[in-house]
Amino acid sequence: MQTADIRRRWLEFFGDRGHTVVPSASLVSDDPTLLFTVAGMVPFIPYMSGLVPAPFPRATSVQKCIRTLDIEEVGKTTRHGTFFQMNGNFSFGDYFKETAIEYAWELLTTSEADGGLGFAEKDLWVTVYEDDDEAIGMWKKTAGLPDHRIQRLGKEDNYWSTGQPGPAGPCSEIYFDRGPAYGAEGGPIADENRYIEIWNLVFMQYLIGNVKSKVDFDILGELPRKNIDTGMGLERVAFIKQNVENLYEIDQVRPVLDRASELSGRRYGADHEDDVRMRVVADHVRSALMLMSDGVTPSNEGRGYVLRRLLRRTVRSMRLLGVDRSTFPELFPASRDAMATAYPEVSADYERISRTAYAEEEAFLRTLSGGTTILDLAVLKTKEQGAPALAGDTAFQLHDTYGFPIDLTVEIAEEAGLAVDRGAFERLMTEQKQRAKADAKSKKLGNADLSAFAAFRAQGETVFTGYTELETESRV
Ligand code: ATP
Ligand code: MG
Ligand code: MG
Ligand code: MG
Repeated sequence: MQTADIRRRWLEFFGDRGHTVVPSASLVSDDPTLLFTVAGMVPFIPYMSGLVPAPFPRATSVQKCIRTLDIEEVGKTTRHGTFFQMNGNFSFGDYFKETAIEYAWELLTTSEADGGLGFAEKDLWVTVYEDDDEAIGMWKKTAGLPDHRIQRLGKEDNYWSTGQPGPAGPCSEIYFDRGPAYGAEGGPIADENRYIEIWNLVFMQYLIGNVKSKVDFDILGELPRKNIDTGMGLERVAFIKQNVENLYEIDQVRPVLDRASELSGRRYGADHEDDVRMRVVADHVRSALMLMSDGVTPSNEGRGYVLRRLLRRTVRSMRLLGVDRSTFPELFPASRDAMATAYPEVSADYERISRTAYAEEEAFLRTLSGGTTILDLAVLKTKEQGAPALAGDTAFQLHDTYGFPIDLTVEIAEEAGLAVDRGAFERLMTEQKQRAKADAKSKKLGNADLSAFAAFRAQGETVFTGYTELETESRV
């Protein structure tokens, strides 16, 4: 089943059941507290909170998402993309828990011939919030699930809130069992490689207050209008239905992986490290393409920095695969062709997107050739001396003189088994900033354009941590 086919079945199923089909919003969220759209519900937040009356009681979408928090997982787990598409069905004070469970079960288990997704009932497991006996009863009634295939989890896993006073509620997640070849028996609690989370149903039913943390708050009462928010990973269902091993091997991603393999002459499946790198390339090229298509351009802060990091990690991964020359002119068209059916704009805008991408690669290759030798030597020297960490001033010099990003230095050092003295690095960065300030003052720059300093201002800050989960996401 092609990804486009799964998407079509989804929209038809919920469309036929009274849901308004809403096109994907941009990856660049309207919500100023969010760097990116991280879930299907993001465009609907005003309706969920009741701030704005919903123009329709039910909606469905296939939403483009970016989760930077998952960047370290990419290529290593089977199921995390930095870009992915979340299929959602939403109810704004209309249907609730029982209907949401019924719809999910029906779509998953209806045969492919009858327009469903054709999962075998015996392969599906669910988790529920530990106190949610109501949901357990409904799963038993609707799906006839035996007790052992319904697992109870705590607030950490199966409770949704924004971390703020307001709407909140329990979740129930649906998992696919890949069978004994993939790990231990016993459900998602035992093994998340064998049991793949495909769909999360959120039952927004309470108003919470006195919030001390994500797991410590008071339930003030029931919401007058309860909402349903669900998210099914399109790529996850695709990789299961396409009988491949992970989401980097599906029809929308695999062509890039194959190009990386051809360009490097390394066979996919021959070496674990190389496989991870090819999967990283395939994922990051697609994410970068989709971000640029939504208007993001590489820069040193915010969204542009995320894009820049994805592009640079792609270059790095290709180098680790033994390719030093530019590869974007071959990788990006492969991704464009794989994505254009679902998103024709990546083709229409390709001229603009590719110009930016190729220029960024050229610039970074120049940076790398300047910095890598110095870094390699420094790593050698540090190891010879038996020190556990690369000196902060080396990292600073690389950054200052060669424009070598600190996260790359950290990554390269880590590969050699070394840490980086981040404390010393940050101190040097701060000193430099102060010098620059003092300098500007002493020269009485007045209203001169100081934007040239923006680059290191941004890099001195923590610009790449923890803003992927919806709950904690905030503009940095
Ligand atoms: P996981 O535990 O596997 O990281 P999650 O619990 O963080 O997933 P949710 O926030 O519940 O994911 O998102 C709803 C659905 O979106 C998930 O059930 C999954 O199918 C899909 N999904 C989430 N993150 C990713 C990702 N990084 N790449 C692909 N699909 C994803
Ligand atoms: Mg996650
Ligand atoms: Mg999960
Ligand atoms: Mg989940």
